[in-house]
Amino acid sequence: MGRRNKATDQARQPGHGDIPSLDRLLRTPALEQLQARGGRQLVLEEARAELGQLRQNLNNSGAAADDVSLDGLAERVEARVGATLQMSLRPVFNLTGTILHTNLGRAPLAEEAIEAMAKVARGAANVEFDLAKGRRGDRDDHVEDWLCRLTGAEAATVVNNNAAAVLLMLNTLANRREVPVSRGELIEIGGAFRIPEIMRRAGCRLVEVGTTNRTHLHDFADALTPRTGIVMKVHTSNYVVQGFTAEVSDGDLAALARENGLPYMVDLGSGSLIDMAALGLPHETTVRETLEKGADLVSFSGDKLLGGPQAGLIAGRADLIAKIKKNPMKRALRVDKVTMAALAATLRLYAQPEKLTARLPTLRLLTRPIGDIQAMAERIAPALRQSLGDGTIVEIAPCTGQIGSGSLPVEILHSVALSLRPNTAAKKTGAALKRLAAAFRALPIPVLGRITDDALHFDLRCLEAGEGEQAWLAQLADLRAG
Ligand SMILES: *Cc1c(COP(=O)(O)O)cnc(C)c1O
Repeated sequence: MGRRNKATDQARQPGHGDIPSLDRLLRTPALEQLQARGGRQLVLEEARAELGQLRQNLNNSGAAADDVSLDGLAERVEARVGATLQMSLRPVFNLTGTILHTNLGRAPLAEEAIEAMAKVARGAANVEFDLAKGRRGDRDDHVEDWLCRLTGAEAATVVNNNAAAVLLMLNTLANRREVPVSRGELIEIGGAFRIPEIMRRAGCRLVEVGTTNRTHLHDFADALTPRTGIVMKVHTSNYVVQGFTAEVSDGDLAALARENGLPYMVDLGSGSLIDMAALGLPHETTVRETLEKGADLVSFSGDKLLGGPQAGLIAGRADLIAKIKKNPMKRALRVDKVTMAALAATLRLYAQPEKLTARLPTLRLLTRPIGDIQAMAERIAPALRQSLGDGTIVEIAPCTGQIGSGSLPVEILHSVALSLRPNTAAKKTGAALKRLAAAFRALPIPVLGRITDDALHFDLRCLEAGEGEQAWLAQLADLRAG
């Protein structure tokens, strides 16, 4: 409609006098409706911003008749309101090949966990209330027994994530004390979790022991002083030192710590609750094994191999856990009822280990048969070819993924990918690939893959048959339109 008078209006550049008033703009039918649906204040703010932008454009480069027309303005305000209301945090297809992707929210939750979250989110819940005794309870009560049952620990507690768990253990047991750690374990886990920095923030003095590739028991023994607070081991989750190496076993470190009256704590990182080897996956040290080898405290993440919500779990000696719970920092690092519900429901799934690979999405994805993924690739490829047309070559190719989040860093998961290659001259491939990846990211449910070897790869391990596959296919039409 805004174009109707173009021919006549073009004779004259619109000026400030042609800009409709805020009041008139808000009284257009489109914006009246929008205010009823989306809120008066929001529409007012976006209309004001749009008019401000228009004034600035007029000053700088001039404007066209369309820019000052009421309809054109209302349309642009609507677009602004839509963009502001659009959720920035939303579901995506993780086809990167990294199953537990930290930037993509790590473990997908089990239906049982999601239901438990929704139930307690809706209203009041006995988060810190003992229903049997009718008095104040402990937040950890909802998961402590289950954590003990699954790990063999005497006691357990829960905080916001494993980084918080490590910080809390160190601060509780070694504030103003020395903590010897092997030089081979002074790790950085993506996103600023560095052992030396966490130590400092916890009030501990890091004592580096041994060398990067080899650390011996006597290195630890020599490092102990009257100022030592604890002995600590960090699971080198996201890399391996290969070749001429030596590290001190849990058993030896635990014994050394005990002889010196010190607690021995292990930051296990992923910390599985079950034997991954029994599922055909590489073995990952379990929390139970680490405690059996003599660790007094073990910390691990809720959203790595465990397959639950973001949380940091500490399991171990009852007297040490009691001290940790009394640290005021615990209050600052605690989890909310929604996380607690998801964790409690996830732990209960471990009561039936034989059903875990069916019910726990993380384990289901990790153990998905490759024939299944291949069959899906063959189902999906034709639709994708049709949507993309001649401009892109779509192939089905074997690929390798990884567990992610530092779990079993060198192990690879054989999988199948759809590989997309722009059908362009070699020197234009880079730019074409970037455009292709951007188009998939712009879909209603953004699709994230991985660019290597001049192709965009979608590892299909994490695209589950059923709803996931249907949603993926349904939005291919948007790709064509876009
Ligand atoms: C992942 C990891 C952490 C951090 O755990 P978050 O749950 O991400 O806070 C700490 N230490 C190790 C060894 C890890 O693998």
